[in-house]
Parts: sequence; structure tokens; C-alpha cells
Amino acid sequence: MELTGERQFLLRGGRIMDPAQDVDFVGDVLVHEDRIEHIASEIDVPPSTKIVELSGKWIVPGLVDMHVHLREPGEEYKETIETGTRAAAAGGFTSVACMPNTCPSNDNSGITRFIIDRAKDSGRCRVFPVAAITVGQDGKGLTEFGDLLSAGAVAFSDDGLPVQNPAVMRLALEYSLNFNALIISHSEELELSKEGCMNEGKMSTRLGLKGIPVAAEEIAIFRDICLAKLTGARLHIAHVSTAGSVEIIRNAKAQGVRVTAETAPHYFSLTEEAVAGYNTFAKMNPPLRTERDRRAIIEGLRDGTIDAIATDHAPHNSLEKECEFQLAANGIIGLETALPLALKVLVNEEGFAPVQVMRLMSSNPASILDIPGGGLRPSGIADITIIDPEEEFTFTRDTIHSKSYNSPFLGLVFRGRAISTLLGGMPVFDANGLFDIGY
Ligand SMILES: [Zn+2]
Repeated sequence: MELTGERQFLLRGGRIMDPAQDVDFVGDVLVHEDRIEHIASEIDVPPSTKIVELSGKWIVPGLVDMHVHLREPGEEYKETIETGTRAAAAGGFTSVACMPNTCPSNDNSGITRFIIDRAKDSGRCRVFPVAAITVGQDGKGLTEFGDLLSAGAVAFSDDGLPVQNPAVMRLALEYSLNFNALIISHSEELELSKEGCMNEGKMSTRLGLKGIPVAAEEIAIFRDICLAKLTGARLHIAHVSTAGSVEIIRNAKAQGVRVTAETAPHYFSLTEEAVAGYNTFAKMNPPLRTERDRRAIIEGLRDGTIDAIATDHAPHNSLEKECEFQLAANGIIGLETALPLALKVLVNEEGFAPVQVMRLMSSNPASILDIPGGGLRPSGIADITIIDPEEEFTFTRDTIHSKSYNSPFLGLVFRGRAISTLLGGMPVFDANGLFDIGY
């Protein structure tokens, strides 16, 4: 396809799902330049219009990942904005929000602007920076929220190095009210989790590893929900991993607290059993929990207690992972397995409607962050993902677009994945050559 000049093409005969409008039907989407021109069950176009036949494929809003680590600035050996957004596009994502725990941390508008500029130059998807709550993420002085928002930050979080002092968190929530800004809580009581490297329970005893109790997460979530209630501010809970956390959030929502929550694909697809054999690719923070927790996460996604699926994409290089379990870094890459895992576990095993999965992966995170996208509307931006629900593929190292390969899912065979990703009408990923762009 011509990447310059006028762009117009028809996506024909696909299953169109728009969770923002709760629609799901077979039809056509006409894209003109960077916009969606028209959506209907059948659209007539002049013979010169390029037609992309999508019978049996799904046409959904570009996926939105509200929690990734792109590692730039400072740790470009793990990932860069260029490689991270390439991985995002390959996973069907058109927007990602990147966490501030870079080196230096994103605690000032200079860094925020740097990330946005780099993403514009090299990015294959939109990048929305999340700025730090405290300067240097040291848990003490608040950053300049107004200045950071003007520079393009979309939320605030001390992800990775959580705010330990409740008075500082209260102040951050009160301050956020001036801007109706979102505070994202990495909920972890460090005094309880310190030196722990997996879930605390039978498995940690068997392996002789120090565990992290579920209470380390649940106490921190409960604290921040109490503070959100006290201040009336908007709070989002990152990477929910325990049954108790789901229950605390469900109760808070029933009381009208302004709280939303996300979980990551590994928490609904794996348990602590994956750590057996001291598999460092199954080490993350919060840790993988038990089957009971996994079930509760799935039920939380089903009933809307958990609003979004976010990857917590955390690239690390081989030296940081291929070492003793206790010393290994926390986290796994996730951008290229999130959709296949959601289709495998939530749709195929748990019977979720596909449109519900798209809600968790596009319209809900877009609306929580208040960013464009997450829907398919005439005159709306043409951020579109095309999914082949039947395509089988093996997830291997040589298929990965990320700079790192720390994933517990290597070697797995999946059915269903993104085959093309359109960013503002421009194909930025095209596995099967539907758009003739060669990647
Ligand atoms: Zn975190």
C-alpha cells in the first residue's frame, strides 16, 4: 500500500466489535486518511478503492495498554521506545502508557517531553507517559503535577518504588483533585514484602524461598482506597494479583469510591506452580499466586470489578534473569502475548464474549486514562486492530519484536492473535501482508 498521498481503503466483511458502543456485527469499515469514514453492514466504494477482505477476521479498536515499562531513558539495553512500540504494534496495541521508573525517573516535564518526542520519531504506537508522584520516586516531595500534565503526562504513579508514607499519598490524592488527575497505586507494603521473591505459601516453603504474603498487597490497596474515600480523588490500582484484593476493590466500588483496577495476563493464566524449577521467567512483582487467586481474578474481570487488562511489560536482559532465583530481576515482557492469552483463557476457556475482552483491553483503559481511541466511530481516529481468532502460532524467541525475551510463555502454541495494526489509518504491523507493506 502507498504510505504517502491519499489513503483510502475498505475493510470488508469482518466481525466489527466496538465495546464503547457495545456493538458486534459483520460489516465494512471505510478508512480515509487517519479517520474512520463510515461503518455499516455493507459499504459501496468506487472501483479505485483498495479493498481488504476480512471474512472470518475481527475488526476491533486498537488495543490500549495502560501499564508498560519502555526503559528509555537510561536502560536502553533492555528496551527502547522504538523496540517497545514495535512490540506493542505486533501485539495489536495502538496506545501504551509508560511508567516513570526509568533512569532518571520521569519526575519532570523535560523527561516527559523527551519520551513524547522519541515516540513521535520512532514509535509505532501512541505513547502516553505516566509521571512520578514524588521527586526521584523517593516517597517524599511531590512532583509538579500541573507542569507534568501540560507536558503530556496522563497520570501519576510511583510504580516499582511505591509511596510508603500514607501522609504523602494523602497529599498526592488531594493535590490531584486540582487537576482531576489520576493516581495509579503500585500497592505494596515493603516491610512485608522485603527480601521475598515469590508468593508466600506451600510452594515457597517447598522451594526454600522467602515468600511475599498476599497481605503485602491487600493492606496497601486498602490503605489507598481509604485515602481515596477520604479525599474524593481518583485512584487506579495497578496489577491486582490476589483474591482478597479483588474483594476489597469490589466493596469499595459498591460504596462509591472512585477506584478502578487492572490486572495482568499472567495473573489470570499462571499460578505459583510456574516457579517450580526456580524458573526466573516466572518471577514478577506482585508474584504469581494460587489457583484460588487466579479464579478470583477471572471473576473480577467477568463482573467488572477489574476494569482493565494491562501487561506490566517489563523487559530485562538475559544476565538479569539467567541467574540465581533470589537475585533475578522482577517482571516479564507482555505486549506480544497479552491478546493471545486473553483469547486462550478468557474467551476459549472461560466463555467471555470477545467484545468484553476488547472492552478490558481498549475502551476501558482509554476512558480511565482519558485518551483518544478505544472505539470505532465515524470521524473517529482510525486506530484499528485486525485479529485472526483462528491463526495458530508458536511464541518463540525469534518471533519477538521486543529487545528482551524474558517470558514464561516461550514455546507455547496459541490460537488467535493480531495480524494487522493500523495507527491513524497507517498500517504499522502487517503479519500476513494484507496491506502490502512488508512487515
Ligand atoms: Zn508496579
